Amino acid sequence: MGKVLIIGAGGVATVAAHKVAQHPEVFGEIMIASRTKSKCDAIVQAIGNPAIRTAQVDADKVDELVGLMRDFQPDMVMNLALPYQDLAIMEACLQTGCNYLDTANYEPKDVAHFEYSWQWAFKKRFEEAGLTAILGCGFDPGVSGVYTAYAAKHYFDEIHYLDIVDCNAGNHHKAFATNFNPEINIREITQNGRYYENGKWVETQPMEIHKDLTYPNIGPRDSYLLYHEELESLVKNFPTIKRARFWMTFGQEYLTHLRVIQNIGMARIDEVDYNGVKIVPLQFLKAVLPNPQNLGENYEGETSIGCRIRGVKDGKEHTYYVYNNCSHHAAYLETGMQGVSYTTGVPAMIGAMMFLKGIWKKPGVWNVEEFDPDPFMEELNKDGLPWHEVFDGDLEL
Ligand code: NDP
Repeated sequence: MGKVLIIGAGGVATVAAHKVAQHPEVFGEIMIASRTKSKCDAIVQAIGNPAIRTAQVDADKVDELVGLMRDFQPDMVMNLALPYQDLAIMEACLQTGCNYLDTANYEPKDVAHFEYSWQWAFKKRFEEAGLTAILGCGFDPGVSGVYTAYAAKHYFDEIHYLDIVDCNAGNHHKAFATNFNPEINIREITQNGRYYENGKWVETQPMEIHKDLTYPNIGPRDSYLLYHEELESLVKNFPTIKRARFWMTFGQEYLTHLRVIQNIGMARIDEVDYNGVKIVPLQFLKAVLPNPQNLGENYEGETSIGCRIRGVKDGKEHTYYVYNNCSHHAAYLETGMQGVSYTTGVPAMIGAMMFLKGIWKKPGVWNVEEFDPDPFMEELNKDGLPWHEVFDGDLEL
């Protein structure tokens, strides 16, 4: 039985905490710590297990984290705060001899740019300390990498083309809302698009490339090519890949709002002076947009996220599509959160479980596809994210 410290008390952390609490045989002691302690207490109340401890911590401050971790002595920290905190939490883990897991790669606050280099730079220190760090263990990144590793292990000698397809066909009945932290989400999707082809990265304008893709049980949806962080690790870990792309669906209403937000300067991440106070427009926007944690109650429809893969096995070309569909309403009934938080929080719990069971345990800093996918895939079926396979179908891509 292990001790786990969850950092953050948002939508993803709420789901992960519910799931962790469902497995007392693995997670013997649990603490939730975040910037606002009352939010941690509210999660404990919703779960109904008063043995879960809570604490206040500013996860930007290594010394505060070290103090908390020395006191609680967790085996693993699940970092479910924001990407800005990744490096501080990794540093605190090294100083206290604790293992680490997150769901999003580091991003500096003042530049909308994410890449793994900052976290991969910790590899040697984690190795020397005998500690495991598991990066990007949500759905995408996360399950998308596990799906790819599973395909490579069981169905292909070489993967040549990988398309990760992410559809949210839900309706939350709000004019505009994001499904996870609005600041992080808008920074991500307003960047230039990028994909990998023949050993090079190809840049596109934001949302420049799009096409209709058909999602199981949903139908065709306009899908836009975006840059997504797992592409960076997947092309490194599966060097036979000739092309890797990421697609996400957006409705016209969403895109119109986004365009207006950008055109009027509300997506800016630099400080502006407002009546003598410095504010960051995107952070102000986050304060007035619906909180993604409150979308669940009236959210209808489902998400569908998967990997469409083309490659060769025994000299013959094959295609493979592996995906999960997740109902927003079912996620809400179980955890009080919508499907996007659910599809992220469940894999985070499974990653921590893999570590505590000693299955995904090796000193260093790793992306999920570098571990054995089979036990993780098995657990997805048991923990609310069952997957389905289509062999040699039309990938549309
Ligand atoms: P939320 O904004 O709902 O939650 C973030 C939480 O982190 C809040 O509770 C917040 O505190 C806390 N926090 C922020 N800064 C600090 C700090 N300095 N110290 C301590 N706590 C802090 O985000 P989500 O739950 O939607 O997302 C969580 C993470 O999951 C993000 O990194 C996001 O990028 C990632 N994600 C990954 C996905 C994947 O598939 N891999 C998909 C979706 C999200 P407070 O409540 O006080 O604001």
